[in-house]
Amino acid sequence: MRRRLLLFGATGSIGDSTLNIVRRHPGDFELVGFTWHHNEKKAAALRQEFPNAVCFSTTSPDAVARSEELLAQEHDFAIIAIVGAAGVRTTLLAARHSKKILLANKESLVVAGPLVMAATRASGAQLLPIDSEHNSLYRLLATTPPDAVRKVYLTASGGPLLHLSGEEFHSAPRERVLRHPTWVMGQKITVDSAGLANKALEIIEAHYLFGLPYSQIDAVIHPQSFVHAMVLLKDGTVLQHASQPDMRYPIAWAMYHPELPPDTVGGSTPEYFPSLEFFPVDCQKFRAYALGRRAGEEGKYFPAVFNAANEAAVEAFLSDSIRFGEIANLIERALENRYPEYDYTSLDGLLQYDSAARQLVHKLAYST
Ligand code: NDP
Ligand code: MG
Repeated sequence: MRRRLLLFGATGSIGDSTLNIVRRHPGDFELVGFTWHHNEKKAAALRQEFPNAVCFSTTSPDAVARSEELLAQEHDFAIIAIVGAAGVRTTLLAARHSKKILLANKESLVVAGPLVMAATRASGAQLLPIDSEHNSLYRLLATTPPDAVRKVYLTASGGPLLHLSGEEFHSAPRERVLRHPTWVMGQKITVDSAGLANKALEIIEAHYLFGLPYSQIDAVIHPQSFVHAMVLLKDGTVLQHASQPDMRYPIAWAMYHPELPPDTVGGSTPEYFPSLEFFPVDCQKFRAYALGRRAGEEGKYFPAVFNAANEAAVEAFLSDSIRFGEIANLIERALENRYPEYDYTSLDGLLQYDSAARQLVHKLAYST
């Protein structure tokens, strides 16, 4: 059976990994639709390669209507590989129109976790995480009785600045921040990983996906990125799920689900295993992590503000307007700010918080 897929954000890093699987297994998958944003050159090459797929740029003013048209195509699953809060609307639309959603866009759950989960519950759509840690947790928890779980752990490589501190960490140059030791990813998530804001986003993502309280979700530094998640059981034993750090593992698993995928990557036998280290997150150094975690625990509009402030600050860092360490300062300012009382139970309200936090960070970042 050829599975028909829609790919939102086809021109990015997750898009690349997804299409790599499609190309390796053309008998198993058919790309029936895709979107891109700015990368016209790559989109032109994809149009040529997949001439039958319906496609458009999400920069178009009627992007929402066109996304709905795309989702009206017969398809088996939709992959949301858009980066940032810009993906929320698409995730919510897919929750209404798709039987199965493969979610890379963690920001959707951070900004609007309760709405996304309610929408998938209402439609009966299946939500499969392809963020590697969550994909591993999903697989571990599927075989574990819920009352046997004491705690779950997401691993974090610690990023390229793990061994830097003080001024070296604060003023780490862009090239260094973008040189991730284990994963090849888009720019925004690579910066997020260097300050561990990414892990805070993922803790919030796990809270909504698995319905676990924050007290049962933790992160642990694991520089080899070989173990992606762990489940500590009440009997004191630990389940781990591991693979080489390659996004094609979680993506292929979700694309073939509920069948098992072939090994697209290779190199999984024990002689290739690295030595494994695990140690706690330094919350003094990784302040963006601590702030994001607290924002998650506060709930309401705080996760949306955390996410928006982080996106705006990362953008400022990438355009050389602020130093790396200032990302956490700006996030803190945005979380402490007083906002008008928007309705944080609605998407519009959450997006108002999102835009107010972005404006604040923008003002602070570009006025220094
Ligand atoms: P990239 O930056 O590589 O790609 C982002 C994609 O989103 C591109 O196709 C881009 O289009 C599109 N895009 C950008 N802005 C918008 C917008 N405003 N509206 C619609 N589409 C937009 O990101 P990644 O592939 O690295 O990450 C995608 C998502 O997956 C993120 O949420 C990330 O956190 C998550 N993720 C990524 C992992 C990875 O290994 N890369 C691992 C786990 C999760 P264009 O390039 O044409 O402008
Ligand atoms: Mg991840």
